[in-house]
Amino acid sequence: HPDTTSHYYRPINQATGRVPVAIGRKKRRVVVTGGSGFVGSHLVDKLIARGDDVIVIDNFFTGRKENVAHHFGNPRFELIRHDVVEPILLEVDQIYHLACPASPVHYKFNPVKTIISFFRVGYLKVMSLEFLNWCNYKTNVMGTLNMLGLAKRIGARFLLTSTSEVYGDPLEHPQKETYWGHVNPIGVRSCYDEGKRTAETLTMDYHRGDGVEPDMWQLWFTLQVRIARIFNTYGPRMCLDDGRVVSNFVAQAIRKQPMTVYGDGKQTRSFQYVSDLVDGLMALMEGEHIGPFNLGNPGEFTMLELAQVVKETIDPSATIEFKENTADDPQKRKPDISKAKSMLNWEPKITLREGLPRMASDFRNRILNEDEGKGN
Ligand code: NAD
Ligand code: UDP
Ligand code: UDP
Repeated sequence: HPDTTSHYYRPINQATGRVPVAIGRKKRRVVVTGGSGFVGSHLVDKLIARGDDVIVIDNFFTGRKENVAHHFGNPRFELIRHDVVEPILLEVDQIYHLACPASPVHYKFNPVKTIISFFRVGYLKVMSLEFLNWCNYKTNVMGTLNMLGLAKRIGARFLLTSTSEVYGDPLEHPQKETYWGHVNPIGVRSCYDEGKRTAETLTMDYHRGDGVEPDMWQLWFTLQVRIARIFNTYGPRMCLDDGRVVSNFVAQAIRKQPMTVYGDGKQTRSFQYVSDLVDGLMALMEGEHIGPFNLGNPGEFTMLELAQVVKETIDPSATIEFKENTADDPQKRKPDISKAKSMLNWEPKITLREGLPRMASDFRNRILNEDEGKGN
């Protein structure tokens, strides 16, 4: 009789009479911090589907329980309400560290509006810009430190989700991983940019063993780390009112409001569908390379082109209105993903025209529920 309690045990598939290909692969226990957020919840879906045990750590600052509610009752899934700024004891094989307050992108344009939009979506009752900045920085620095300490203690592999914002307002196009960035250390957005830059520094220091008290452990152990620099990503479960351009345009088109194009709309961005990002994160975790790796879709669109694609794929009657932009808005952002292509054998597959309609049905349902809620 097979040992059904073994990590290596996989039951025979009755339909095919074969043992699933996963045989021999040690069953993993994986932590996803920020796992009830937009990207995290899609990652959790894929890890569970692969057969891993998954523990989500989230304080629901910007995430929603609904994003992972379909796993409730699954014995391979656990959800812990916890702030990563505080230490935690767990035993796992891998740590995907995503926890970070979704950057309220409108700080730089209009902090008051940001606060009101957060109030409207009900994330936080009272908050100031300073409070948000502090939470962001504290989570990025202390949260990352705690997760690295955890990884070190248990010998788990650690993956940090960093951001294209570490390049700041880049002077190099497209951005390669070797570019050190052009970041303002004292601006209103610096908490996010600098917080992630510090998180990258900590990750590499823990990997090298620098800055950590030398102890017996380090004599035979090097902490395995991975760093992803994520570029603009969109998809179902994205925050409805976070002010990002894709969520704004899609929500506006569904609500029959004009799409707000800032400035002349000629600035460019590259938009990655969330499933491509999740594939990239998993390839990075499983691969042999530390990174950092740019994970993004190099397809470049002006905001006017994006509005046109939303119009074509979501509502042909959608209109646009122009609004004032700020002077510091980056004119171009586009990842160079040749490193990820060659070393991780990864590249995005979903085009904007394919991805937007997949996101629209989720947004339609949530906007409908919101409207019904208001009627009550
Ligand atoms: P999100 O806000 O949807 O998810 C972040 C999650 O972290 C939320 O569930 C939130 O509740 C949780 N969280 C925040 N602070 C926490 C804390 N102190 N303790 C525990 N949980 C906490 O954002 P997302 O878009 O899914 O982003 C996930 C990660 O990817 C983040 O680290 C973000 O910086 C990075 N990233 C995302 C994008 C993008 O376009 N979505 C781009 C670049 C980088
Ligand atoms: N930590 C944690 N869980 C663990 C191990 C460590 O949360 O299982 C935290 C710990 O509280 C500390 C941080 O991770 O704040 C860094 O840990 P490390 O051991 O590197 O540093 P030290 O505790 O020696 O300062
Ligand atoms: N933008 C826009 N209309 C909106 C929201 C944003 O035209 O309703 C523009 C914004 O000025 C910027 C681009 O879209 O040039 C991307 O903005 P976002 O906040 O989504 O991402 P980031 O600037 O962080 O890349």
